[in-house]
Amino acid sequence: MEIYYDRDSNPEVLKGKTIAVIGYGSQGHAHANNLRDSGYDVIIGLRKGGSSWKKAEDAGFTVLPTGEAVARADVVMVLVPDEIMGDLYREEIAPSLKSGSYLAFAHGFNIHFGQIVPPSDVNVFMVAPKGPGHLVRHQYKIGAGVPSLMAIHQDPSGDTKDVALAYACGIGAGKAGIIETTFREETETDLFGEQVVLCGGVTALIQTAFEVLVEAGYSPEMAYFECLHELKLIVDLIYEGGISNMRYSVSNTAQYGDLTRGPRVINGAVKEEMKRILEEVQSGQFAREWILENRAGRPVFNALTKRGEEHLIEEVGKKLRAMMPWLQKEKLVDREKN
Ligand code: NAD
Ligand code: MG
Repeated sequence: MEIYYDRDSNPEVLKGKTIAVIGYGSQGHAHANNLRDSGYDVIIGLRKGGSSWKKAEDAGFTVLPTGEAVARADVVMVLVPDEIMGDLYREEIAPSLKSGSYLAFAHGFNIHFGQIVPPSDVNVFMVAPKGPGHLVRHQYKIGAGVPSLMAIHQDPSGDTKDVALAYACGIGAGKAGIIETTFREETETDLFGEQVVLCGGVTALIQTAFEVLVEAGYSPEMAYFECLHELKLIVDLIYEGGISNMRYSVSNTAQYGDLTRGPRVINGAVKEEMKRILEEVQSGQFAREWILENRAGRPVFNALTKRGEEHLIEEVGKKLRAMMPWLQKEKLVDREKN
């Protein structure tokens, strides 16, 4: 597998080009600020009166309605929520998209599942950071980067890979590593990862273990520290040096419990369920469900989000975090600005 770094990229291919970043949310603010700090010419496309307009203006960017930003741009990076992207593309992006320009994404969902079909004279690439946008900005500011995936969907100009690589390095990914992949592979692994491990798996693991302790009569505060708070400290060790590094640091008792009990929690039945979830991703069944859920006004999304917010672990967590004021300092997310 080929991994690219800053030294493999020629930043000149993006110089003199206008990059329109559409959306100024988690990824949008990070790409826009990092690219500008890397010396590129960045403008922002948004809905007039949308919640991010002021944030982008306060950060000193030229902000335009989406269609106008697209019309001025050589490279258009679309960083709005995936579920509104298809409509936005048809209504405001496609009519202003120039022949020979570059249309870019940070996730392959809409291209892979055929919700966006760009004309054949437009170059299409993806630069997908493997981390939340706020971290993409934070890492850049400290001279580091977030590893990213890069893929080319179509390349009528013949230099799309050079442009994609320069873009990826411009957001800082060239410090950490840029892996070339396909839209299909990125989309399927990304959805699988967030469903099974990163978001779905982890939250269900935390909540379920918390419930078991509380239902057995232990205090919710104890359960919170044990099942949620400490997770970060363990993940930091895994992030730094892999699972072995974490096992080196924890007690021998913890390590023995890990080795013998872990596979009983995440057992063969769970693995079979993971395979079914992967199949739903690969077959497009999940994509269809999510697209239709949005058309219906998100009843399931809203009901389950509310149920999650009402879980006892949220109430206890709020109280306990208020007693740890240092957690509030140097926060990655500041809702006023990013
Ligand atoms: P987000 O929800 O944080 O931000 C969306 C932005 O789009 C906001 O600025 C919002 O004002 C703007 N917006 C909404 N509707 C709009 C419209 N009609 N016209 C113009 N602008 C509009 O989104 P995000 O999480 O940064 O996701 C953007 C893309 O990045 C998605 O493709 C996502 O899959 C991908 N991605 C996100 C992350 C992440 O960390 N969140 C990680 C990797 C890839
Ligand atoms: Mg993801």
